[in-house]
Amino acid sequence: MDISLVIPLYNEEESLPELSEWISRVMAAHNFSFEIIYVDDGSTDNSWKVIEELRSKNLNIKGIKFQRNYGKSAGLNEGFRNASGNVVITMDADLQDSPDEIPELRRMIMEDGFDIVSGWKKKRYDSTLTKNIPSRFFNAVTRKASGIMLHDFNCGLKAYKNKVVKSIEVYGEMHRYIPVIAKWSGFKKIGEKVVEHRARKYGVSKFGWERFINGFLDLVSISFVGRFSKRPMHFFGLWGSIFFITGIGIAIYLIISKFLDPSFTLTNRPGFYLALTTAIIGVQLFLAGFIGELISRNAPGRNSYLIESKAGL
Ligand code: UDP
Ligand code: MG
Repeated sequence: MDISLVIPLYNEEESLPELSEWISRVMAAHNFSFEIIYVDDGSTDNSWKVIEELRSKNLNIKGIKFQRNYGKSAGLNEGFRNASGNVVITMDADLQDSPDEIPELRRMIMEDGFDIVSGWKKKRYDSTLTKNIPSRFFNAVTRKASGIMLHDFNCGLKAYKNKVVKSIEVYGEMHRYIPVIAKWSGFKKIGEKVVEHRARKYGVSKFGWERFINGFLDLVSISFVGRFSKRPMHFFGLWGSIFFITGIGIAIYLIISKFLDPSFTLTNRPGFYLALTTAIIGVQLFLAGFIGELISRNAPGRNSYLIESKAGL
C-alpha cells in the first residue's frame, strides 16, 4: 500500500465526510493505493457513526474508537500501530490541513529520502495571541533543545517512512515533539515543507489554555529526558554528590571543632543543621531521580488504551 493516513479526531462529525471525499479525490488523481485510519478519541458527538457510514461506502476508510478521550498523542500512537502504508501521513480532522499537500509530502519521503517531512504552517489562520505567539516561543526553545531546525514542530500534517512510526512511541502530550522523539530513535533526516493552512471550518479547537502549561512541562521533560534519560546519573549523580559531599564536609568541620574545643556544643551551630540537610538532600537526589527515571521508562501502562471497537482492522 502506498499511503496510510492517520487522522486523530475528537468531535469532528461535520468535517469527516468532506475530508474523506477530498482525500479520496487526491488519491484517485495520483493512482495511489491508500487507507484512511480515523482514530476517534472518545468523541461524544456522532463522529463514530459518521465513520461507520463512510466505511460502508468506501472500504479504504477504517476506524478505531477509543472508549474515552485519551488525547491526540494516544490517537496517533494507535493509528501508527495499525498503519500499513509505505508512507504514513498524519493530519488533523478539522480541514485545517489540505490533502492537496499529500503527493508532494510522499514524493519527498520516497524520492528525496527523508525519514520525516514536517509541515510548516508559514501563514497561519489561528488567533495571534493564543496560538501564533506562544508557538513561536515553543518552536524556538525546542529547536535549541533538540538541535532540529524545524519552524513548526506541532504541525499536524507530517509524513513518515513506515519504519519510523513503527519504532517510536507517542504518549502523554508528546505529539508536539514527534520529530524530537524520532531523532532519539535514530531517524535524523528530517525535512520540512511549507504547507497551506486553512481556518477551521466546523467546530472549535480542542486545545484550551492548558496547552501552555502542558506544552511547557512537556518541553521541560523532553529536553531533560533527551539529555539525561540514557545517563541519569550524570545529572542526579552530579548534584547528589555535590550536596552529599558539602554535607559531609561541614560535618567533618564540626567534628574536628568538637575535638579541638570540647565545650563546643554541636547542636547549637547552624552548620550542624546545614550538614544534615545537605547530606540528606544529596542522597535523595541521587536515589529518587534515578529510581524515578527507571520506573517511568518501564511503566507498562503508559501506552495501553481501551479500544471500544474497530472497523476494518
Ligand atoms: N484531537 C484529538 N484528541 C484530543 C484533542 C484533539 O484527537 O483530545 C484532534 C482534533 O480532533 C483534531 C486534531 O487533534 O483533528 C487537532 O486538534 P485541534 O484542531 O483542536 O487543534 P488546533 O488546530 O486548534 O491546534
Ligand atoms: Mg485545528
